[in-house]
Amino acid sequence: MDTTIIPSLRAQDYLSDVKPIWCPGCGHFAVLSALAKTFAFLALPKEDVVIVSGIGCSSRLPAYIDGYGFHGLHGRALPLASGLKAARPELTVIVAGGDGDGFSIGGNHFLHACRRNMDLTYIVMDNEVYGMTKGQASPTTPPDWTRSKLTPHGTGLRRFQPPAIALAAGASFIARGFAGDPKGLTQLMTAAIRHRGFAFLQVLSPCRTFRPEQQAWKAQVHPCLLEPTHDAAHAAALIQRDDGMATGVLYAEDLPVFSPRRPAEVGLDTIEAELAA
Ligand code: SF4
Ligand code: MG
Repeated sequence: MDTTIIPSLRAQDYLSDVKPIWCPGCGHFAVLSALAKTFAFLALPKEDVVIVSGIGCSSRLPAYIDGYGFHGLHGRALPLASGLKAARPELTVIVAGGDGDGFSIGGNHFLHACRRNMDLTYIVMDNEVYGMTKGQASPTTPPDWTRSKLTPHGTGLRRFQPPAIALAAGASFIARGFAGDPKGLTQLMTAAIRHRGFAFLQVLSPCRTFRPEQQAWKAQVHPCLLEPTHDAAHAAALIQRDDGMATGVLYAEDLPVFSPRRPAEVGLDTIEAELAA
């Protein structure tokens, strides 16, 4: 019998030696800290966790975690993570990124990841702007935001509604957190990782540099008044009335999880037999 005692890890043990290059005051610092705390709380072995990201300020996150990570292509974090989960279903796979990466170029992948309902946790650090490319409007930017030289009169476009779209597309867990509420964020991350299926966590994470007015979010966020619902119609009504600042679990349901056969289980013999049948 193996009697080796594995000491439990502290939150800081999950952080790498790479110093984040985010701007001072960026909300992503709090997201990184909450994620490390969540891993420690869940006592996840480092070798069993992988963080997958796309491109953007928030997508730098895998470098700051002491563990396995994949910094992929712009908007392609979800297909990468889906492939990884298909090949290694025993791993805890976390996908991290921003609103531009996830809802614009990656928008199609977002829809299909929701409906596929693989056992993934998708954390979107939403600051309603493209931060890394110096402040252009993203899909969640308000229509009257005029500070970008590319849209000096605002976009005039309705905003992408991430929770509503996730619900319509089939996500089985939908929550919203705030970077300024680290304790609540850790609780939501814990619930999202424990949920079996595609867990979508939108984190309001202010961009200090290009959206300084988001400092006002601290006074605007409020807890979701209702208990998490398992009823999609109820969740739809809740989300339609939502002002975009309600935090908590908006929807959680036990839905069939897509878990394809591992590539190693599908040998040529199997494929030939299936084609011949
Ligand atoms: Fe954070 Fe904005 Fe700076 Fe990017 S540009 S690191 S999102 S504050
Ligand atoms: Mg952004």
